[in-house]
Amino acid sequence: MIFETVRSDGFEQIIFCHDPEVSLRAIIAIHSTVLGPALGGCRMWNYNSEQEALQDVLRLAKGMTYKNSLAGLHWGGAKTVIWGDPKKQKSQAALEKFAMFVHGLGGRYITAKDVGINATDLHMMRAITPFVVGIDGLQGSSGDPSVSTAWGVYHGMRAVAQFAFGISSLSGLKIALQGLGSVSFSLLEHLCREGAKIIGCDIEESAIQRATSRYPIDIVSHDAIYDVECDIFSPSALGGTINEETLPRLKTKAIAGAANNQLSNPTMGRELLKRKIVYAPDYAINAGGVINIAYENPHEKTYNLQGSRDHTQKIHDTVLTILERAHETQTPTHTIADQMAMERIFKKQRSTETS
Ligand code: NAD
Repeated sequence: MIFETVRSDGFEQIIFCHDPEVSLRAIIAIHSTVLGPALGGCRMWNYNSEQEALQDVLRLAKGMTYKNSLAGLHWGGAKTVIWGDPKKQKSQAALEKFAMFVHGLGGRYITAKDVGINATDLHMMRAITPFVVGIDGLQGSSGDPSVSTAWGVYHGMRAVAQFAFGISSLSGLKIALQGLGSVSFSLLEHLCREGAKIIGCDIEESAIQRATSRYPIDIVSHDAIYDVECDIFSPSALGGTINEETLPRLKTKAIAGAANNQLSNPTMGRELLKRKIVYAPDYAINAGGVINIAYENPHEKTYNLQGSRDHTQKIHDTVLTILERAHETQTPTHTIADQMAMERIFKKQRSTETS
C-alpha cells in the first residue's frame, strides 16, 4: 500500500525514524524537491495508529509542496510527524535524535514548528542541526509565524471582498471568525482597524477574554458560529470544519480563513461552487507564515521583515487570480489552486530536463 501511495502521489522519499532507547517514532515524508529543499514543519501528535500517522504526514507533506509552489518560494514540500503525546512523551533525547535524522538528510529536508512542537523544542533541535527554521528568540530568525500568516489572510480577505462584493476594503463587512488563537488575534488588528464587524468564537475562555479585552467583537458559542449570517466565514481554528453537516448551515457569501485543510473532502469544493459561495483556498491564503521563513538568512543571521511583508501582500493577487480563473471555467477554487501550483513545478521540471 505504501509503495502504491508513494507512486500515485509522486512522493520522493519517506523516512521512518525509530529509536526505542529514546522512544522516538517519527515519519519524515519528502513529497517534492523539484523547486528546492523540501520545507515543512514537525508535528507531534498522539495518533491512534501507525496508519493514521502515516496518512497525516503524507497529506500534510503534499500540501506543503502545493503551498510553497503557489507562494512562489524556492522550496519543495515535506512534513514530519512524531508519534506520541507531546504533553507526556516528549523528551530532549528524542528530539535530539530526531534532529540527527534531519541532519543526516544533508539539507534535503528543512524542519520547523507545527502542532505539539514549541520554540524550546526547536532550540534543542537547532543545537544538533542547522536545518531548523522559524525559531522564536534566535538571532536572525523570523520567529512566530502567526503575525505573518494573519497579514496574508487579511490580504486574501481583501481579494475576496473585491471579487465577491466589488469593494477594495473590508469596512462594514460582517466576518464570522471561528477560533480566536494566535493567528486570529493578529488578524483582528487589521480587521478592526478597517472597520469590519466581527462575530467570534472559541472553545477556550482565555482566548475569548484576550480578544474581547482588546477588540470590539461579539461572541457566540463555538457551535452557533455556523449559523451566523455574515459576508465572510473565516475558519481559523481546526481543519475539516467545512463538511456535510456544517455547509448547509452556513449563511455566508464567502469563506476565507487561516486553518489548514478547511474542506473535509474535495466534494465540499464542488458544493461551494454550486452554492455560489466564494472560497479562498486554505493553502493559498494562509501561506504568510511559510513566506516569512523564506526571509531568514541563517548564514548571515539576518531576517528581512520588509521583504517578508511585501511578498506576503502578494497573496491578494494570487487569491484574486484563483477566484477569477475558477469563475471563468466554473471550476472549484481549490482545483484551480492545485493546477497553478503544479504548473510551476512542471515548468521547473521541463527546464531542468532540457538544460
Ligand atoms: P492556535 O492554536 O493559536 O489557535 C486555535 C484556536 O482555535 C485556539 O484558541 C482554540 O481554542 C480554538 N479552537 C479549537 N477548536 C475550536 C472550535 N471547535 N471552535 C472554535 N475555536 C476552536 O492556532 P493558530 O496558530 O492561531 O492557527 C489557527 C489555524 O491556522 C490552525 O488550523 C493552523 O493549522 C492554521 N495555520 C496557522 C499558521 C500559523 O502561522 N500559526 C500558519 C498556517 C496555518
